[in-house]
Amino acid sequence: MSHSPQTIIIAGGGIAGMALAVLLKQGLGSGLEVVVCDPAAPEAARNAPGDSPLRVSALAADGRRLLQRLGVWEGIASRAQAIDSMDITDSMLADPVRAKLLSLSGDVGAGEPFAHMLANDHVLHALAKAAVDAGVELCEARVERWRWNGAAAGLSGTATLSGGAQRQASLLVAADGSRSRLRALAGIGWHGWGYGQTAIVATIAHERPHAGRATQHFLPSGPFAILPLTGCRSSIVWTERAADVPALMAMDAEDMLTEIRRRFGLERGSLRLETWPVGVFPLALGVARRFYADGLALVGDAAHQVHPIAGQGLNLGLRDVMALGDALIDAIRIGLPAGGMDLLRAYDRNRRTDVIAMAVVTDGLNRLFSNDFTPVRLIRDLGARLAGRSSTVKQMLIREAAGVGAPTRN
Ligand SMILES: Cc1cc2nc3c(=O)[nH]c(=O)nc-3n(C[C@H](O)[C@H](O)[C@H](O)COP(=O)(O)OP(=O)(O)OC[C@H]3O[C@@H](n4cnc5c(N)ncnc54)[C@H](O)[C@@H]3O)c2cc1C
Repeated sequence: MSHSPQTIIIAGGGIAGMALAVLLKQGLGSGLEVVVCDPAAPEAARNAPGDSPLRVSALAADGRRLLQRLGVWEGIASRAQAIDSMDITDSMLADPVRAKLLSLSGDVGAGEPFAHMLANDHVLHALAKAAVDAGVELCEARVERWRWNGAAAGLSGTATLSGGAQRQASLLVAADGSRSRLRALAGIGWHGWGYGQTAIVATIAHERPHAGRATQHFLPSGPFAILPLTGCRSSIVWTERAADVPALMAMDAEDMLTEIRRRFGLERGSLRLETWPVGVFPLALGVARRFYADGLALVGDAAHQVHPIAGQGLNLGLRDVMALGDALIDAIRIGLPAGGMDLLRAYDRNRRTDVIAMAVVTDGLNRLFSNDFTPVRLIRDLGARLAGRSSTVKQMLIREAAGVGAPTRN
């Protein structure tokens, strides 16, 4: 007797949701129906993005390995800029020289940098095309509601889409971002706080090459990150006190560039804004109380939102994708239900420690460095200098940033 395959609906076709769809469909083929619901999803597959990205991410080595496994890395590798080294400075805005506090460099494997910079749109476009090629259905609708029908209905639920259509599924994955409506409707609590800080984001063309170096200037209002992109270009993520941002946003491009130059430094020669207007993102921390409900799993920012100080939000989401995706493939292959409570609880246990650890680390780093109280500055500078003297600590920091953990010993 042949059974009809189970269906998984993924609400949210951002990078996390789309990567999960590709992983599941490539892993199970005709053994699973996968539907990605997002008004923006079909367009992400159709339209190739432009060459001057605003939103970019540092993709850690384990996330890059996932893209390689999904067969999308080769198509975007030429657009990726390796981060070969990272300099950290701690100074006041008016300081003429930003002295280096810590320098990190090194690969996580032979010729494998610990991270690459990539435009979010390029990653998403490649994943959306791979999803279509694998047979994922991209549905141009939002998921408005999810009702779990329980064991009586063969462990399935009903998703109501924008426009009123209803679809049955064995599992709904909410990958609908940090303000997840589906998480709220499922009654899952969200613990966290706003930082009273805003990230200002822009792409800057500069005269002199960056040599694959990322720089993080810790300034009293927050970190100012300079992240290398292909060519003589870098992305800046400038964390500023939220109260000071409206005045900055009222500036014209020339004045804004002057403010950027004060922070960016002179090392890379003359600067030009490649994207205008700049992007603004209010910053907050949040972790869902549970990463599941009846027939529902949370992935990506729907499950956790962290400060971008360490460039780890999306990387955490891709680790959710690997954990949930591989558990689902194993379960469905042996005929278990996708929405089974044991599987969902195991997923929660698997991811919670990593997520909480990253939330604590990013929150602590931001508090420690967005601060010009002299004793705090002395302690953090001492800590960074001690870390800088130990090659073991530096190697550990690189491997943690890459998401590959401790080196394996034979
Ligand atoms: C300034 C800044 C810099 C950052 N830099 C980095 C970095 O360097 N490295 C890194 O790892 N992370 C970084 N991050 C974090 C990273 O951008 C996010 O973690 C990541 O984009 C989240 O992806 P996602 O797919 O989970 O959610 P999103 O990208 O938010 O996607 C959610 C999707 O869900 C859709 N949606 C919403 N509601 C519904 C619904 N009801 N039904 C269906 N679809 C719905 C939306 O249309 C959207 O497409 C940064 C963040 C910021 C703000």
